Amino acid sequence: MIIAIDGPAASGKGTLAKRIAAHFGMGWLDTGLLYRAVARDVLAAGHDLEDIEAAKTAAQSINAETLDDPALRGPKAGDAASIVAKIPEVRAALLDYQRAFAHQEKGAVLDGRDIGTVVCPDADVKIFVTASAEARAKRRFLEHESRGDSVTYDDLLADIRQRDARDSGRSAAPMLAAADALHLDTTALDAEQTFAAALDMIEGKRKTS
Ligand code: C5P
Repeated sequence: MIIAIDGPAASGKGTLAKRIAAHFGMGWLDTGLLYRAVARDVLAAGHDLEDIEAAKTAAQSINAETLDDPALRGPKAGDAASIVAKIPEVRAALLDYQRAFAHQEKGAVLDGRDIGTVVCPDADVKIFVTASAEARAKRRFLEHESRGDSVTYDDLLADIRQRDARDSGRSAAPMLAAADALHLDTTALDAEQTFAAALDMIEGKRKTS
């Protein structure tokens, strides 16, 4: 079984994907980390994030072992990721890795922006997770606050709005719900309620297919 979970930054899709994967004993890939790692590697090699050749080279040499890097988690890394993610050559170079992961024997849950539309258009279940920009900024703010990071709610909200615009507005694989995706709005839901709603969707889909 392949489960595709797409949605904007801080919609709760990552937490949800991880939990679903653990519940069904499937693999989990946070595809945002791939773009974050490409941006990190481009900058580390001394290039500009808009440098197509440098970004393509970084995407072609992506190494799964370097994805577990705390430096990839912050808002700056997410913002940098959304710049390299606009480059079609980068997206193409990351496709095989994502598809190979999706087709592993025990099944997989992938979360991102284009999983249901481009990476795994044949996924068994597609869920598009949304939440208002304000709810997402508040979640991010509470996460940072609990880690003692000094960020403001207003800056996080501005970052989320900028990333939404960049991810939805790009021409290469824009963030988009697949026509056959189920929509899950988590604005008023906590992680537990989100998980329960998604499980219902998955079970419902399995019964009808
Ligand atoms: O999901 P996350 O916030 O980690 O993603 C970082 C950035 O990577 C996104 O803003 C988006 O530009 C890009 N991305 C993408 N396609 C994916 C996953 C992430 O373009 N499947």
